[in-house]
Amino acid sequence: MLIARLIAEKASLESQLDAAIAALEGEGMAVAMARLLEGDGDVVQISLPVGDPARLRALLDAHFSPSDMLVTDHEPRVPQLFVSDMDSTMIGQECIDELADYAGLKDKIADITERAMQGELDFESALRERVGLLEGLSEGAISQCLAERIRPVEGARTLVATLRAQGCRTVLVTGGFHHFADPVAEMLGFERVVGNRLDVSGGTLTGGLVGAITDSSVKQKVLEEEAAGLGAGIASLATGDGANDIPMLEVATYGVAYRAKPKARAAANGSIDFGDLTSVLKLLGIPESDWAS
Ligand SMILES: [Mg+2]
Repeated sequence: MLIARLIAEKASLESQLDAAIAALEGEGMAVAMARLLEGDGDVVQISLPVGDPARLRALLDAHFSPSDMLVTDHEPRVPQLFVSDMDSTMIGQECIDELADYAGLKDKIADITERAMQGELDFESALRERVGLLEGLSEGAISQCLAERIRPVEGARTLVATLRAQGCRTVLVTGGFHHFADPVAEMLGFERVVGNRLDVSGGTLTGGLVGAITDSSVKQKVLEEEAAGLGAGIASLATGDGANDIPMLEVATYGVAYRAKPKARAAANGSIDFGDLTSVLKLLGIPESDWAS
């Protein structure tokens, strides 16, 4: 069984749905049912007895772009675990790029960040290189940066609050830094934070990091360990946008790529490119009347 849930511009749904169903059938993926999901009226659910999920996503992409979608082999349910990336997923910025601006190095550091998130650079060496460039910056620049630059993306608070209200455990896992992630987690309501620690001495950054690095394998491990702690057969949700989120997106029951780099989007079974983060709630079938904030 394959189930696709889709949110897109109403006009494109009206004009393209029949064509998309015909294209699916043309590829041997007969559609058993296509209907609006009960509730808020803007999620279309397409059910197929058999089919290739990657092919289904590609065909939906070809007909409805931009869209939000989730493709699974079962009727999606409310997850018991939510693990999310922070930078460019829960907040609209890359913290290290914004912080670099306070050192007059934004262009140089942002270029390295972009290439790392596209999956073109080794994550750890790219991280150490950028942190090294920040040597000598005052720790006070971090709180200034937080106050002046760092903002949650649309729907982030509602997503976290609603999942928690549904009994879901929430974990923020970032290749960025606790200096930023701890206050962001508190603001958004995450229960646990896993991230990297900037080394500080005498009120300035030393250019080094403390302890082990949180990279893509740690993100995956956090999701797996948290899931194991909650019991067998639980459903998990992960959201992320970068190459270092790929293993976490792949192991989650619902891996949702948020306005993501192409490699991360391809590795996920869901994607948000049309609406805000509350689309995740819609795709999971949580009606707006149950949303919390
Ligand atoms: Mg990110």
